[in-house]
Amino acid sequence: MDDFAADPSHPRYDSLLKRHMLESAAQKGMLAGSALIAHGRGEAYDYLIGEQTIDTAMNATKQALYQLKTAKNPVISVNGNTTALAGEDLMRLASHLNCPIEVNIFYRTPKRMTVLLEHLQQINQKLELNVEILGALPDARIPGLEGPRAKCCHDGIFSSDVILVPLEDGDRCEALVAMGKTVIVVDLNPLSRSAKMGSITIVDEISRVAKNLISIIENEEEVSQLPFDNEKNLQLVLEHINQSLTELTKLTE
Ligand code: ATP
Ligand code: MG
Repeated sequence: MDDFAADPSHPRYDSLLKRHMLESAAQKGMLAGSALIAHGRGEAYDYLIGEQTIDTAMNATKQALYQLKTAKNPVISVNGNTTALAGEDLMRLASHLNCPIEVNIFYRTPKRMTVLLEHLQQINQKLELNVEILGALPDARIPGLEGPRAKCCHDGIFSSDVILVPLEDGDRCEALVAMGKTVIVVDLNPLSRSAKMGSITIVDEISRVAKNLISIIENEEEVSQLPFDNEKNLQLVLEHINQSLTELTKLTE
């Protein structure tokens, strides 16, 4: 990567790399000003989770994949951070699922939309994919939301029955659930409104989630539907965090 100087042997290499990816994305105009703050909040929770995919997150990931695979009209909605950190793997996922990717950002400006759409188009070329990329011409609105945040594409988000919306804002997540969709959230903060609103919340880092989804698909691992309770799922994450902190407290006694 261009001017990224960290050594892979550095203990914080992955974290430094992700920060650098976001810095580059910001320079290209892909991110809103608050994007790095949102990432910082995610990093703090990732520390508490142990920077790993915990069992309950893997279970949620598999249930999410089952829903996406069996959906009539699945869609993947991406914002700036998601595109910067997991754009390639989510494009691969869209290709496997044969579904569109829709750029849908909280602070919608024509410039950011263009940069993000072009970035995804370049991934299509680089990986020789043929994923439909939506978002340039929004022609529908999400009921219950005001202003530009309600804009979406009829053939993408609006008509979807199952939607993967990583790092989504709580309000929009709630509005999508109210439309009757199965809403799959990825959020490292199990206490956020988005996490609580989602139908299935994967409490894990977005680039790890995207890699896990690809690896399950490419290894042809079977995913089947199991009873899933999102409240219980979030409770298990909080118990994991509690347990880790209890163990850490013992070490410092
Ligand atoms: P709300 O409570 O309404 O959901 P919020 O306070 O979570 O809002 P957002 O701007 O939606 O505010 O924050 C982005 C969310 O994304 C944070 O909860 C953060 O933990 C999470 N997040 C940030 N980076 C990542 C990442 N790389 N992978 C997964 N989650 C992330
Ligand atoms: Mg949120």
